[in-house]
Amino acid sequence: MHSKTFKIQISGRVQGVGFRPFVFNLAKKNHLLGTVSNNENGVIIYINTSEEKAVHFVEQILKEKPEVSIITAHSIEEVKYEEYTDFSIIPSESDEKINIPLTPDFAVCNACKTEISNKNNRRFQYAFTTCIHCGPRYAVTKKYPFERKNTSLHTFKMCANCLDEYKNPLNKRFHSQTNSCKDCGITMELLDNKKVEIENNQTHILDKLVTLLHKGKIIALKNTNGYLLCCDASNPNAITNLRKRKNRFNKPFAVLYPTIDFIKNDFDISSEEENALVSIIAPIVILKNTKQLSFEPNNIAPNLNYTGVMLPSSALLQLIAKKAKKPIIATSGNAHGSPIITTKEEAELKLNTIADYFLHHNLDIEFPQDDSVLKFVDKQQVLIRRSRGLSPNFEYAEKLTKNKILAMGSHLKSTFTYLPNKHIYLSPYFGNLDNYDVLNRFTTTIDKYIELFNTKPKTILTDKHLHYQSSILGKAYREKWNANLIEIQHHKAHFCSVLAEHKLFQSTKKILGVIWDGTGFGDDNQIWGGEFFSYENNKIDRINHFEYFNWIANDKMAKEPRLSLFSLIDDEDKELIKGKFTKTEYKIYNKMLKNNTLKTSSVGRLFDAVASALDIVDVNSYEAEAAMLLENCANSSQVENCIDLLEFKDYDTIPSKLLLKIIIKAYKIDGVSKAFIARSFIFTLAKIIIKIAKKNKVKTIVCSGGVFQNSVLIKILTELSIEKSLDLKFNCKLSANDENISFGQLMYYQNIKN
Ligand SMILES: [Zn+2]
Ligand SMILES: [Zn+2]
Repeated sequence: MHSKTFKIQISGRVQGVGFRPFVFNLAKKNHLLGTVSNNENGVIIYINTSEEKAVHFVEQILKEKPEVSIITAHSIEEVKYEEYTDFSIIPSESDEKINIPLTPDFAVCNACKTEISNKNNRRFQYAFTTCIHCGPRYAVTKKYPFERKNTSLHTFKMCANCLDEYKNPLNKRFHSQTNSCKDCGITMELLDNKKVEIENNQTHILDKLVTLLHKGKIIALKNTNGYLLCCDASNPNAITNLRKRKNRFNKPFAVLYPTIDFIKNDFDISSEEENALVSIIAPIVILKNTKQLSFEPNNIAPNLNYTGVMLPSSALLQLIAKKAKKPIIATSGNAHGSPIITTKEEAELKLNTIADYFLHHNLDIEFPQDDSVLKFVDKQQVLIRRSRGLSPNFEYAEKLTKNKILAMGSHLKSTFTYLPNKHIYLSPYFGNLDNYDVLNRFTTTIDKYIELFNTKPKTILTDKHLHYQSSILGKAYREKWNANLIEIQHHKAHFCSVLAEHKLFQSTKKILGVIWDGTGFGDDNQIWGGEFFSYENNKIDRINHFEYFNWIANDKMAKEPRLSLFSLIDDEDKELIKGKFTKTEYKIYNKMLKNNTLKTSSVGRLFDAVASALDIVDVNSYEAEAAMLLENCANSSQVENCIDLLEFKDYDTIPSKLLLKIIIKAYKIDGVSKAFIARSFIFTLAKIIIKIAKKNKVKTIVCSGGVFQNSVLIKILTELSIEKSLDLKFNCKLSANDENISFGQLMYYQNIKN
């Protein structure tokens, strides 16, 4: 009866998720004989059984698979008969190239949380407790398949107790590659900023650390994905010190809470927000301040009525948050826009003027990541930063080109996308490539991917902007690997990112693409940023845009909203804003304006101009501050309470200058409230989209670009679309900002023919 042997292949997110132990137990339950192992394509199973039972076994696997696994493909075939005497997990010895998604990091699970808080458990207080369902994965990956010897855990030899768990099919740490305990595992060090050890007892270190937090000290602590800077969120002096030392006076911080119930005491949260917070991703979720908080919210996010909140992503943070019994600021450990720090040496070098104390540990971080950030607009998820828990994969069910492609992405919010096999690997967010350390991390990560996948790209995709560091690097790679290089227009890449997310490339009807952001190099050598495209039959055409205005003072324009106002304002209104400049500045900028040839259609800069016109902010203290404050201002009144400022005529281009003139008159002369004007401005932009859709007779509207992280715009546009029965699509799994450019470049390459 058992005279046949079947080979079952499972691919997807099936390594580092407890898949082999699951198959082992299922096989035992079914009294099957055979083997299970990891290989370059996922998990491979051999069993002796009848055809009927083999098929049933596969069905059971698909139905009962581990919670954190994702199966993207499976197959079953009869192979040459081989006799097995038991069922076993065999180690992988594969030297083949990997062809499966990389498993992301998983936040500490509830079972592990219970163990570390139970005095009678042997993992009581152990800060690096993990199991087959939780713990770092991508962060500690050196090579694949995901076996202990291929991770940075390989330097820790399991003790007898851990090994027993590892070998016991009934244990939740059966074949758990990150298994360790306080007898054999990772150790911590608590030092002051003069490198003097202040506590050496492992069980007392975190108690000491929490005492320091309560005393208002700033601590640089190494989480499993990189260093965090922490202090007491309810201590104004500690926060002032952190802001001063970090030279970050207004930028919002994220706050770590001990429990979801504590968060619910401070915020009214939706079920979507709650699900995201308690998920295995454990992202920072931006919540609206509606209640009295347990700290002063204006210290955390000055002038904004929302707060970024998260739950512990690791056993370490769980122990600290629980001991602290109050919200703690937990912001990426870096200085001046540098990438998140991962080594003791670098932390001591770069953070010693910021932190009073350091908590180090001896687990190496192979792939550092920031915490992911998202928010919800009603039920719509809006991703702000895609990193820990989400990167480095993008599940894409459509057919992919066989070419090996490296898409270099953008510049300010850099990511890269790599297609070395049948899967898309989308790197975590890196940051601004003008920063030397960011550029360095960007290039070393690309090098690591090339090595990990043992595949060199044949085609390099870059932005059309020649001066982006990613474009410059792309050219160097072309030489190095003798590859092709293709330049792709920035906003068309944005457009393609959403078309791909919603599988719209095969659509038989024309689609409107509304792509609004700060800057991107256009096909006509001007700076685009307020674009309307059509997509039809694998072709993209630019069908309208915001009217051009002068781009002056290079990068300064994005940092100083008053310059966008200066450029957009009508000459006869200029007197009204003279006070925003010194006499010399005013003269210089007037001269610049006269001699300028570079133009822009940027909606990002139009937001800046409006923020400055309403005296909300003239010079940003952090990136996108003006847009965030304007959104915040618009959020303080109701949607019913706003008007369309621009009566629609069939404009060739959208008249930004006229719109600004109307706003200035309303604010400066008619004395209309800022909130009403801010909301009406955003309402007017939403109406423009609806009108352009109507004029072009399209039913599907696709929106991307950083402007579409604005909650008020998303909300108003969604309501208008429902009213007009229009189908509206935003980025959903990806951020709408330049983080999606690298993925969009790949999708453009694959789908667009003009
Ligand atoms: Zn766990
Ligand atoms: Zn152990």
